[in-house]
Amino acid sequence: MVNQHEVYELFRRHLRLCAAQEGETVVVLSQGRRHARRAETFLYAARSLGCQAYHLVLPEPLPESGNWTVGASELARTPEAVEALKRADLLIDCVFLLFSPEQFAVQAAGTRVLTAVEPVDLLARLFPTGEHRERVEAGAELLAKAGTMRITGPHGTDVTYRLGVYPTVSEYGYTDQAGRWDHWPAAFVFTGAADDGVDGKIVLGPGDVLLPQNVYVTTPVEYTIEKGFITDIRGGHDAELIKSYMESFDDPRGYGMSHVGWGIDERAHWHGLREPSFPGGMGMELRSVYGNVMFSTGPNNELGGPNDTACHLDVPMRGCSLFLDDEPIVLDGDIVVDAMKPAKARR
Ligand code: FE
Repeated sequence: MVNQHEVYELFRRHLRLCAAQEGETVVVLSQGRRHARRAETFLYAARSLGCQAYHLVLPEPLPESGNWTVGASELARTPEAVEALKRADLLIDCVFLLFSPEQFAVQAAGTRVLTAVEPVDLLARLFPTGEHRERVEAGAELLAKAGTMRITGPHGTDVTYRLGVYPTVSEYGYTDQAGRWDHWPAAFVFTGAADDGVDGKIVLGPGDVLLPQNVYVTTPVEYTIEKGFITDIRGGHDAELIKSYMESFDDPRGYGMSHVGWGIDERAHWHGLREPSFPGGMGMELRSVYGNVMFSTGPNNELGGPNDTACHLDVPMRGCSLFLDDEPIVLDGDIVVDAMKPAKARR
């Protein structure tokens, strides 16, 4: 376990990566009592770098569906707070604002936004590096110029995404550019297809991961996708779990296809969901696993699309192959492009 002094040093190092500097305003946002200690440590770390730093605490959310509803934030009830965040240089988000219109507004005003909600041990173990950033950006460059993405997999997956409409997003765990968001820890790239641009089958097998359920699939799940929407899900227990979850939102847009990409961090463990020292995490480690292929369902407003459903699943898959315009990027769960490999694995 990481002790409190180490956490302080870790946050200082991270704030430096985020280019926090003297005279800048850093706001730490949290909710209720959650992450109160983390927020305080970020404040000390930011002040030690000469920043103006303060802590903004939102009230606990009102109980609603009980689901993990992405995009709904308490900030929507406090427009004054949004205005304050727009004036900040750097926002440390310990709430998880992702997909919320308020976060988009804050970014549009030029504030750098860094989400930091994962367990501290994981923040330490997957501490971002410039090398990972370069490799993620090399992947993003390839993805940004691709017209199609085809994914095949060991259980029968064969699906094609028509690209070129939405931007490519890099996540490498820190942010030093005005208006840019990132999530610590992370090392992956993604984009989304045209709204009607996904067709084929995705078949999950044992070991693939469902987030936010934070479980490993144990029985095959077969998704049929037509024109960007899931039209059928079949299989055993896991298929029923997915269907039951999606139906609970009562929103047909939850069946849309969301972001898709691959992971780049060789330090991330596939067994991370069962790591006894990281209880309560939200699966950033699984999203980042080197050579995983992750598809997701639900909203695409994060990429500028029209679908802002709150029903979102991320599904990192093992052993898949991914091709951009027929060029192999990942083969059987292994990255084949040198620029994305760790230095020691390059030819
Ligand atoms: Fe997602």
